[in-house]
Amino acid sequence: MKQRRSAGSRIAVYPGTFDPVTNGHLDLIRRAAELFPRVIVGVAVTNSKETLFSVEERVEFLRRATRAIKPVTVLPMEGLAVKFARIHKAPVILRGLRMLSDFEYEFQLALTNRQLDPTIETVFLMPSAEYSYLSSRLIKEAASLGADVRGLIPKFVVPRLQEKLGR
Ligand code: ADP
Repeated sequence: MKQRRSAGSRIAVYPGTFDPVTNGHLDLIRRAAELFPRVIVGVAVTNSKETLFSVEERVEFLRRATRAIKPVTVLPMEGLAVKFARIHKAPVILRGLRMLSDFEYEFQLALTNRQLDPTIETVFLMPSAEYSYLSSRLIKEAASLGADVRGLIPKFVVPRLQEKLGR
């Protein structure tokens, strides 16, 4: 096994699309902030057609929602999560596992990342059960059909989502 990145600097990066951030993501970030001295949320820079919100908007939402959580920094992330982790000298990539259906994809991703950089470990956290069914995709679908998504995403994101969906 290759030498791990200095075990003392337990920085964790949490990569994702966050389109938009949900209370499930925030639950995970709060848990991570209890475990790691520093958590860097990496917001994937994507082709603007792939996401409802631009990377600037997604970063803004996360910064606002995590302002009170001390160890958290939010940054745009270009390219691979392992590259992002290396740049920030983080030995840990954090991912969330909601249900069994996440497992296969997350398992593939974690093993691919290990292949790309064996010194970086993927750590999975489980959200509180009340958020375990939440996904950004579902929230966008539900909101576009007129569902009330208050309580599932940060309050200030609700009008921004409605505006984006033209509702
Ligand atoms: P990606 O497109 O990279 O999967 P997401 O923004 O959908 O990005 O999710 C980022 C990470 O957060 C993933 O590991 C995902 O499983 C996890 N996640 C998403 N929603 C939740 C939730 N409700 N509870 C816990 N983890 C979640």
